[in-house]
Amino acid sequence: MMRQYLEVKAAHPECLLLMRMGDFYEAFLDDAAELSRVAGVALTSRNKDSDQPIAMAGVPHHSLQTHLPKLLAAGKQVAIMDQLEDPKEAKGLVKRGLTRVITAGTLIDESGLEAASANWLVALTGLDGVIGIAALDVSTGRFTVEEASTAQQLGLALARLQPAELLLPSELRQADGSVGRLAALVAPAALPPLAGLPAYAWKGADARRWLCERLRVASLDGFGLAADDDHLAGAAAAALRYAESSTSPGGDAGAGDTPRAGRLGHVRIITRLHQARHLIIDATCRRNLDLLRNSRDGGRAGTLLAAIDRTRTAPGARLLADWLSRPLAEREPIAARHDAVAALVADDRLRADLREALAEVYDLERLLARVATGRCNARDLVHLASSLRAAGVVRAALLARAAGAPAARATSHALPALLELAAGSLAPDGELVGLIASTLVDDPPLAISDGDLVRDGVDAELDQLRAIKRDAGAWLAAYQVREAEACGLAKLKVGYNKVFGYYIEISKANGDKVPTHFIRKQTLVGAERYITPELKEYEDRALGAEDRIRAAELAIFTRLRERTEQALALLQGCADALSLCDVVAGLAEAARKQGWCRPAIDDGLSLELADCRHPVVEEVVGRGRFVANDCHLDAGQPSGSPEDRKPGSSVGSHEAPGPVEPAKLAVITGPNMAGKSTYIRQVALAVVLAQAGSFVPAASARVGLVDRVFTRVGAGDELARNLSTFMVEMAETAAILNHATRRSLVILDEVGRGTSTFDGVSLAWAITEHLHDRIGCRCLFATHYHELVDLAADRPGIRNLTVSVAEQDDEVVFLHRIVPGAATKSYGIHVARLAGVPRPVIARAREVLATLEQLNVSLTERERPAVRAIEATGRAAPIQLTLFSAVESPTLQRLKTGNFDELSPRQALDLLYQLQAAARAE
Ligand code: ADP
Ligand code: MG
Repeated sequence: MMRQYLEVKAAHPECLLLMRMGDFYEAFLDDAAELSRVAGVALTSRNKDSDQPIAMAGVPHHSLQTHLPKLLAAGKQVAIMDQLEDPKEAKGLVKRGLTRVITAGTLIDESGLEAASANWLVALTGLDGVIGIAALDVSTGRFTVEEASTAQQLGLALARLQPAELLLPSELRQADGSVGRLAALVAPAALPPLAGLPAYAWKGADARRWLCERLRVASLDGFGLAADDDHLAGAAAAALRYAESSTSPGGDAGAGDTPRAGRLGHVRIITRLHQARHLIIDATCRRNLDLLRNSRDGGRAGTLLAAIDRTRTAPGARLLADWLSRPLAEREPIAARHDAVAALVADDRLRADLREALAEVYDLERLLARVATGRCNARDLVHLASSLRAAGVVRAALLARAAGAPAARATSHALPALLELAAGSLAPDGELVGLIASTLVDDPPLAISDGDLVRDGVDAELDQLRAIKRDAGAWLAAYQVREAEACGLAKLKVGYNKVFGYYIEISKANGDKVPTHFIRKQTLVGAERYITPELKEYEDRALGAEDRIRAAELAIFTRLRERTEQALALLQGCADALSLCDVVAGLAEAARKQGWCRPAIDDGLSLELADCRHPVVEEVVGRGRFVANDCHLDAGQPSGSPEDRKPGSSVGSHEAPGPVEPAKLAVITGPNMAGKSTYIRQVALAVVLAQAGSFVPAASARVGLVDRVFTRVGAGDELARNLSTFMVEMAETAAILNHATRRSLVILDEVGRGTSTFDGVSLAWAITEHLHDRIGCRCLFATHYHELVDLAADRPGIRNLTVSVAEQDDEVVFLHRIVPGAATKSYGIHVARLAGVPRPVIARAREVLATLEQLNVSLTERERPAVRAIEATGRAAPIQLTLFSAVESPTLQRLKTGNFDELSPRQALDLLYQLQAAARAE
């Protein structure tokens, strides 16, 4: 038995190997220690008394599913060895073999899957040249390829996909450093488990041929893979091969492997993605905006997704997450989504009907994956049938609306194109639904081997066998009575055990009454057990019927499953259409219930939001208590001429100026807790929502297409202000300055905070200048550096905004309303008081503030020339840091104003020490 174990272990050294023994899955040696540690089960040993005991740990077979997620989360791959023959029939050692390798990226039916998110296995062709990226979700059959020509693009894709498992060519995996480079790209998430495949799996031409055979197509053109897309074909083949060899390790995934049809039969289509067609959101931005996962614990609470998700099905929730994580960047497809949402916003009845029907739909995508891989049970098929019935209701509701629409409105179709397309795919296979319903019982058991799946009257042979079994039961009861009477033993009992089968038990005391045709079989302490030829014959019949019933039920079920599998393509189309309806109806529900508007999308460079709200914060502070704000940014005309990118060109300044020229960049100053961060984020969220196809939380909205949203949020107070956080801050800022285009939207929150004030102001100043003068994108910059207010002085493209505050006596109320202008006070003491800082401290702070403010009057006077000096040098020379420091240092003031003529040399030296100490303390 150990030899069986060690042989398989030698072939799969990277896996934690579990072998089925009786009712347990056992691991041995190092794997036992590992299992015990990760899964928290007891570590024991075999051959305890020998000098070489073997470490052993195990989990009951029925709780394997609860332990697997822990093992996978710890980065393990788990190999499962099962018994390949019935132990009852085995002669000697039971044959065992590897049946599955379970890895985080190839889960199909394990409980480790999250219902609302995809589970991507990602394969990369290499880290040099143009990189091919293939992403396969085995649990649903979704399969995409895309390419990245820079490490930065690779990072974007990985940040979006959040792979559960990453597949690299073996030699790359071993090469020094590449894993580290990847870790940096995938940050902040931990590096997912890495698996390696031999290099041959990546060879372009072979990969292409293998994929064609495997997906049963003549060429990959139909999937958008051109003749020179070897890197994409290579990555796709690697992912699919790896997934197939894990889910059925019996097949050889080697180079000469012939595709065995139906292995992962639900993986049929490759979709090619193009980054340029999508609104690009990098890892930083995803994190800062809390789009799909919150930055606190990676959960869904407090995210944009959670705030808008009104879907009724798991595939719908996954599709919505997909829409949000890669919004579109082209007008027509966005408008198509808005059309569909708008139709359902306008029709409460239809929306309610759809959502009611959708509530009856199961996770069809994953269910069909189980059908295609032979893992489904009878309950799955019953759920499939009820889902398809619901699909019929959805279709009927859509078509009824199409028919009921006023004919006079001949302008276009009665249904928006997306919904019409969906309705077309929602033709549920009525025959299959009928077949499932008439074959399987309403609530079949989970295990197909338990029997009782098939209705009476479906199959004549099965009915006959069941009759025999029933009759046999009656016969046994009658037989017991008959024999008891015949030998005058009222207490004669017929019993059953697994080893001896049926027997008659008679106590020793009554031994003399045993008839001669009883054959003794077993002797117990106080009794003897007998069989009779008649009883033996019954046993054959009863047990035979039992086995044959099970076999017949299984055969009927298998036929039904195969029949379902034949309709797979149709059913997958139906599942996709249901997901689409679910997302659209969910978005419409959110929009209608929360009073959102349809955004107008155009190719311009403006962004206009009226009464815009933050969907997540609004939920927290309560609807009606959230103060809506407008936003108007305009980066000019998208002429695309080189003039636009010329340094220093201030767009629109030479053209006929309107009354108030809209700015492209807004500097928002204001007290802490006033709502600056909330405001700038809600603008970014509105753009993401609009381009994802959703309505937006505003009274009206116009969005000139954005190619990329950038965010940079200053080091939070919870982070130590050390060099490394500041490095991160600057690296993120660098990414913005290097990659933003005029079409981008940039959100900056307290940039520069991670360093000293003067450094910080100077950097913030220069960054703002660069964004405005050179890049010319739409930008919102929330800052506590009031110095930046002066940037607007000679730049019409920069607007100062602040948050209004009502002051009455000692009370300060933040109105959260964004208004033109600059903040005059920071109200930090007010916030400190709200936060519970003790009264004496607050009082003392007020005194200090008053003193400083007196000083500040004169400082501001002197600041002006400094600011003007910066302006003068700004375009040519780097900013002189001393210009700021000169106006604030008291030590310098002492130096400047001191009269040193009267000092003795000794006093002069003392003063020098004092000044040095003061300067160091500043
Ligand atoms: P700042 O960035 O100016 O320090 P935040 O944007 O973090 O302020 O907002 C602080 C808090 O004020 C938020 O958590 C929220 O409770 C509240 N808030 C912000 N904006 C609004 C608003 N428009 N309406 C109502 N409450 C708001
Ligand atoms: Mg803030």
